[in-house]
Amino acid sequence: MTSDYAIIGGGIVGLSTAWGLLKRGLRVTVLDGDDGSFRASRGNFGLVWVQSKGMNQPRYAQWSQESAAAWADFANELGDVTGRDVGLAQNGGYDLHFSEESLEATVAQYNVLKENLGGNYPFEVLGHNALRREEPAIGPRVAGAILHHQDGHANPLKLLRALADDVRRLGGVILNGKTVTDVEKTDLFCIRCSDGSDIRSRKVVLSAGLGAITLGPMMGFKAPIRPQRGQVLITEKLPKLINRPSLIARQVDEGGIQIGATNEEVGLDDHVTQPGLSGLAAEAVAAFPALAKAQLVRSWGALRILSPDGLPIYQESPTMPGAYLVTCHSGITLAAAHARFLPDWLEASEAAPNLEVFSEDRFAVS
Ligand SMILES: Cc1cc2nc3c(=O)[nH]c(=O)nc-3n(C[C@H](O)[C@H](O)[C@H](O)COP(=O)(O)OP(=O)(O)OC[C@H]3O[C@@H](n4cnc5c(N)ncnc54)[C@H](O)[C@@H]3O)c2cc1C
Repeated sequence: MTSDYAIIGGGIVGLSTAWGLLKRGLRVTVLDGDDGSFRASRGNFGLVWVQSKGMNQPRYAQWSQESAAAWADFANELGDVTGRDVGLAQNGGYDLHFSEESLEATVAQYNVLKENLGGNYPFEVLGHNALRREEPAIGPRVAGAILHHQDGHANPLKLLRALADDVRRLGGVILNGKTVTDVEKTDLFCIRCSDGSDIRSRKVVLSAGLGAITLGPMMGFKAPIRPQRGQVLITEKLPKLINRPSLIARQVDEGGIQIGATNEEVGLDDHVTQPGLSGLAAEAVAAFPALAKAQLVRSWGALRILSPDGLPIYQESPTMPGAYLVTCHSGITLAAAHARFLPDWLEASEAAPNLEVFSEDRFAVS
């Protein structure tokens, strides 16, 4: 059978896009790689996060806001049809600061962005005492926080599960253990896999995360992406300790406190290190001293997928029209946008969002 779309990569980006396409009545086949693949979608921090995004590109801030605004409806629909609660809590999130100076400097940057966004950037600044009223467990070393009201968090593993279930329920095909080695275009696309099989489709979305480094140039993309390691820790399940998430720690829907994440340029190495984990733990204890007594139950490393400027890439191939590169470093945040709005862009419908600033043209050598 020929699909309307072959999606290469069954992480959060591929599955949310597949789901959106299926809901428009299109036929979709998802090809996902083998167990040795890097999978950011299974190792991330779960934030649905607006603040700090797009400081130098307001359209990215807007795109994150559009996604954040669509998240509740997206999560509710997925929950209703699959019976799986994806654990969304979207009551705001904090950027915690340990000094007045860094808090003030960030607030100044947010004020510039707010102006560039026509005022739509709902944040407030909390000094230590105001923050303590919201978060009684906060430590004395925290000077204050920026509370951004569009932020929240979800359970990424439950989200993946719900999307995979519903992609299948909607008639989509997910082929696991299918490493794509080659893509050719004649009338249709022919997508070849390492096991000798191939599938045909009218269009192709390359959402293979770090796999796009190899496949992208073969399909006419620059795909200038790189890995960046993030190490993460999680504690035993605890009674309610943290009300809202921050970039330092969040209490997940099941009770554990997730602590993260490092930002390390170490190539394709996703191991954890003692200095990395100790640094995370020390910062988390400074923010929430009660964590000093918590048992750590697990740690892991995962690789972010970063473009040179940190923004997503949405690009149709100049050499293979009908093939699209879709990649980003905030796939949880953007899951709702990829499910709800990206299909209009892929189908070039009237409702297509303007994603011009995210094209690969911005990486052209001048
Ligand atoms: C430590 C850490 C913390 C993060 N925190 C957040 C956060 O709080 N909020 C947020 O929004 N984002 C966060 N992210 C980013 C987020 O996890 C990623 O943006 C998202 O998971 C990317 O999804 P993806 O589907 O593009 O890639 P992946 O999840 O990596 O999936 C790519 C898929 O492509 C498949 N593949 C690769 N090559 C091939 C091939 N040749 N053929 C077939 N299939 C192939 C792989 O098998 C894999 O399943 C974080 C990431 C990390 C590492």
